[in-house]
Amino acid sequence: EVKPSLNFIEEIIEEDLRLGKNEGRVHTRFPPEPNGYLHIGHAKSICLNFGLAEKYHGLCNLRFDDTNPEKEEQQYIDAIKKDIQWLGFDWGDREFYASDYFQKLYELAVQLIASGKAYVDDQTAEEIAATRGTPTTPGTESPFRTRSVDENLALFEQMKAGEFEEGAKVLRAKIDMASPHTYLRDPVMYRIKYAEHPRTANQWCIYPTYDWAHGQSDALEEITHSICTLEFKVHRPLYEWYIETLGIFPSKQREFARLNLGYTVLSKRKLRQLVEEDYVNGWDDPRMPTLSGMRRRGYTAAAIRNFCDTIGIAKRDGIVDLALLEHSVRDNLNKTAPRVMGVLRPLKLVITNFPEGDIEICHAVNNPEDPEAGTREIPFTRELFIEKTDFMEEPPKKFFRLGPDREVRLKYAYIIKCESYDKDPETGEVTTVYGTYDPNTKSGSDTSGKKVKGTLSWVSATEGIDAELRLYDRLFTEENPDGDKEKDFKTFINPESLEVLTGSKVEPGLKTAKALDHFQFERQGYFNVDMDSTDTKLVFNRTVALRDNWAK
Ligand code: ATP
Ligand code: MG
Ligand code: MG
Repeated sequence: EVKPSLNFIEEIIEEDLRLGKNEGRVHTRFPPEPNGYLHIGHAKSICLNFGLAEKYHGLCNLRFDDTNPEKEEQQYIDAIKKDIQWLGFDWGDREFYASDYFQKLYELAVQLIASGKAYVDDQTAEEIAATRGTPTTPGTESPFRTRSVDENLALFEQMKAGEFEEGAKVLRAKIDMASPHTYLRDPVMYRIKYAEHPRTANQWCIYPTYDWAHGQSDALEEITHSICTLEFKVHRPLYEWYIETLGIFPSKQREFARLNLGYTVLSKRKLRQLVEEDYVNGWDDPRMPTLSGMRRRGYTAAAIRNFCDTIGIAKRDGIVDLALLEHSVRDNLNKTAPRVMGVLRPLKLVITNFPEGDIEICHAVNNPEDPEAGTREIPFTRELFIEKTDFMEEPPKKFFRLGPDREVRLKYAYIIKCESYDKDPETGEVTTVYGTYDPNTKSGSDTSGKKVKGTLSWVSATEGIDAELRLYDRLFTEENPDGDKEKDFKTFINPESLEVLTGSKVEPGLKTAKALDHFQFERQGYFNVDMDSTDTKLVFNRTVALRDNWAK
């Protein structure tokens, strides 16, 4: 039996299990800040944290890191929960909020003050920043650092009671202003903020900083492996200092490389700018790398989970190729999406020897990858639509589609021959193609013995229905829109990321398609029904083209 190789976090966990740490428990958490919608980077963290809990028969908490009242909203909490569920993970009854620990955190802060390990500082934020030193030179101690324990206890109590203005005072840990780890240079633990919190309303006017809240929340939940992205490696000495100094549960922080994806940005702050400045139509715009955007566009949860699995867990930052995600989406939809026929840019084709008003039923295979999916009926009529790009007046030899005197098969129907065509005299554009069909060539009962090279998709002009198709391209023109220090990432927005086709045609059976239903439009790509679709106006998103159009 071949043992699948472990990623480095699994190696750490298995070593901990061998050493009997944490009584053999594995307990992780996913800690989103409810200040925006989840993106594909978060999906990676969700798959990792919930996946490890599953693999090692442990638990994974969902903890909202809601310590910045100004930026956080209930709508984000709701959206985050919906996205995690959609992705296929279940936190059961382990839904926690850092704000639930405000009282406990306050008590722990009092404990630090009482042991001489924290003090109230009257310096401004600017003064504190200016005296922190540099990585190679020590910082300067605050003139308020020598306050007595009693004075600090009293002042902190007054801070909590709302007796000072915002910015007048902060609570700082008293560690070492000369530490080589700059995060240990008396980090701020509390700030005064008169802001209403979505959950605790106006109960508190002092709010914990990330570093003070995060590790202690991990410890209070007895998280064994606190997994975060590499930027937080420099915070680790502080994470450990708080836990050791307080003598609380020894959660361990471990870092992995964040996911960066080509031609997009993965930062809620930047994605918010795109939404607020109207570069996209909301957090769930199908061009957004958010889970809600990807879901709306037709990416499946299985495809995203598979992608996260495939890319693995790295120790160094890099940019993952967007093609890898699209491959995963195609791979999943190929197995599951019913095939239908749709014509993006229609060109009229008249079958001159087929009687007007007649309907011939053709039988089409719903999914060649899935025999259980069965067949369906589609109508063949005298007037049809084919794709504009499937006809050329002077086709080169290798063009196996339609041209004067050429023959092709119309999929699931007949072999037809092009006899003539009309052109708009002003624009030179071909407006109608005329052809004849051979009645002996019907798919499934062809007795003609004819062979043709090309097979075209088509839709009946009289029975087919209108649809709006939204085609997407990457959102940015640069693989790393963040890569240029001189230029704002929005400079690289792709002005052609959305193309709307309003005159497309689809087979009549799609009339009953519901929002989010997936299809493969034969030869064209994967499409799903958009939420904007109504009974009178069908709207589809192109999830992904059949092949990678971007390949050189
Ligand atoms: P953003 O910069 O997009 O706001 P964040 O890290 O501030 O991201 P949080 O809501 O705090 O957002 O993130 C929740 C969890 O998701 C954290 O543990 C974080 O490390 C992880 N995470 C965020 N972005 C990525 C990413 N690109 N790749 C992997 N994990 C990520
Ligand atoms: Mg964060
Ligand atoms: Mg952030």
